[in-house]
Amino acid sequence: MIFFSNPSAQFKSYQSEIEEAVLSVMRGNRYILGEQVELLEKEFAKYIGVSNSIGVANGTDSIELALRALNIGSGDEVITVSHTAVATVAAIESVGASAVLVDIEPEFYTLNPKQLEMVYTNKTRAVIAVHLYGQSADLDPIKSFCNEHSINLIEDVSQAHGALYKDRRLGSIGDISCFSCYPTKNLGAIGDAGLIVTDDDALAKRVKMLREYGWNNRISEYAGRNSRLDEIQASILRVKLKYLDQDNSRRRTLAEFYYSNLSDLPFILPKIRKNVESVFHLYVVQSENRESLIRSLAREGIQLGVHYPLPVHLQPAYKDKIKKFENLNVTEKITQKILSLPMYPELSMENANKVVKKLKKYHN
Ligand SMILES: *Cc1c(COP(=O)(O)O)cnc(C)c1O
Repeated sequence: MIFFSNPSAQFKSYQSEIEEAVLSVMRGNRYILGEQVELLEKEFAKYIGVSNSIGVANGTDSIELALRALNIGSGDEVITVSHTAVATVAAIESVGASAVLVDIEPEFYTLNPKQLEMVYTNKTRAVIAVHLYGQSADLDPIKSFCNEHSINLIEDVSQAHGALYKDRRLGSIGDISCFSCYPTKNLGAIGDAGLIVTDDDALAKRVKMLREYGWNNRISEYAGRNSRLDEIQASILRVKLKYLDQDNSRRRTLAEFYYSNLSDLPFILPKIRKNVESVFHLYVVQSENRESLIRSLAREGIQLGVHYPLPVHLQPAYKDKIKKFENLNVTEKITQKILSLPMYPELSMENANKVVKKLKKYHN
């Protein structure tokens, strides 16, 4: 069976190092917010090119705590896309703010900056730019819009650890940036984990307090909560961070293989923005025959994915309740056709070739 993602294969790649790291945590005497978390925070901040990084319990929390640290809550509006993991929107709603959803650019599947001005109100406090499938949203115009209105830019980098925008790592451009380290992400734990980065020291200090009951010397200065990162996950992430660039470059090699072998098939292949280096969290094509293609390849032992099958504004929890741009036509249209091919660093060329062959066979 060839899966579209395979976190267990990644464990096997680094098994002895990961096992050693985990054992050493277990043999120690500090299991939460200890040395491993501190070292991971230092190493990750350096990797992204910012001065602060804070480990939290998961990616959804990283967005929630970033919003709280910015004092965004009830009565405020936050603009983002409907074409994202539901987590982005859930985090906005969890602080009592209202999500306002805009459409995506048809070529790149990320936020359409032209719609920002059209949904802006005097309640708008921030934009969350989601870097989807491993590549960057159109950050320059989004950032200009935020600067013009003196609102905050939050990057959701959960699908683009290590990607570059104009030679800068994603996550180093917004006021504060959020990463999920869910097991299948480019930098994935063996459980839940998340990271926040920012160059703003005061903001970083607030996030640190908010992740543990709003504590300042064990006295709650803010109404916080528990979103601590544990030492075992941090020790695993430290091992994997060392290999992140190597893993991402392997994803790019696989993407090149797909590009050169699928160009004759009736697919729309992923387009990468100029000045962006994608890390191909997913390799997403558009197909007119998605459902039958999924069924046909499943019979051949190949699993394909759909990210995502239903835009957030059409899901029962949000339908008819959520504010949005007058129409989200691009989002609704591509949702019917998008298809994620197997993509992870441990996918062998032999298996990638099998995927290509079966896709060709289907279209013959
Ligand atoms: C995975 C993901 C999240 C949520 O992260 P969790 O760790 O699952 O809470 C948020 N945003 C995007 C774009 C994601 O892909």
